[in-house]
Amino acid sequence: MSKDENSYICPVCGYDGLGEPPYNRDLSYPSYEICSCCGFEYGFDDQDQDYSFKEYRDKWIKDGMKWFNPSKKPDTLDYKKQFSNIEKAIFMANANIIQMIKQYRDLTISLEELSKVIDVNSFAPPDYSYSVIICKEHVINVLEKNKREEVSELDLARWAKFIMFSEWYDYCEENSELIPSVLAELEAPLLWSNYADGDCGELKEFMGKLSPEKADSYINALRNNTES
Ligand SMILES: [Zn+2]
Repeated sequence: MSKDENSYICPVCGYDGLGEPPYNRDLSYPSYEICSCCGFEYGFDDQDQDYSFKEYRDKWIKDGMKWFNPSKKPDTLDYKKQFSNIEKAIFMANANIIQMIKQYRDLTISLEELSKVIDVNSFAPPDYSYSVIICKEHVINVLEKNKREEVSELDLARWAKFIMFSEWYDYCEENSELIPSVLAELEAPLLWSNYADGDCGELKEFMGKLSPEKADSYINALRNNTES
């Protein structure tokens, strides 16, 4: 069993002898390698069979923790140590996504770019536990971008909706009420428009309501921690 720095860890069982990373960029680009220990196939058991890492792990343990490839089974087994690898492996699998989730929080990438690595209409995966924190500085930052016309009102509305409902983000504690109330106002245009049908009639009417003055009032509310 390889113990060098370049060995790759199974996010299901913690076995650290994989030949390549189980996921290249994110959970959408699996290796289709089968773990010699637990037998999980990245890209099949998750995406085809719908197992979460935890569900598969629990099932594997319940079924007696049989090695998929017994020839790879080490002479001395230390499952406690092996399991301690799991969190790190899940983090590695998610590392690239987290980076993009952070970039989207600051609107340095667009929702279209983000949608190339995750399903933006779905929730964060069940194994995800590294919430990206959003503080008032981040909201102020994107409002300033809108004032400089770097991002549109529609960009902001989609951004607010994604922050609120995707479960990728967590509000920092001191503004955990104020931030969502500002986001709800920014997101409001989307409630009145049906994007699936491409009908933006009402939205067009709404667009332009986020004037620089209105953006400033949100910014001031956030800076002073008061309801606008
Ligand atoms: Zn495994």
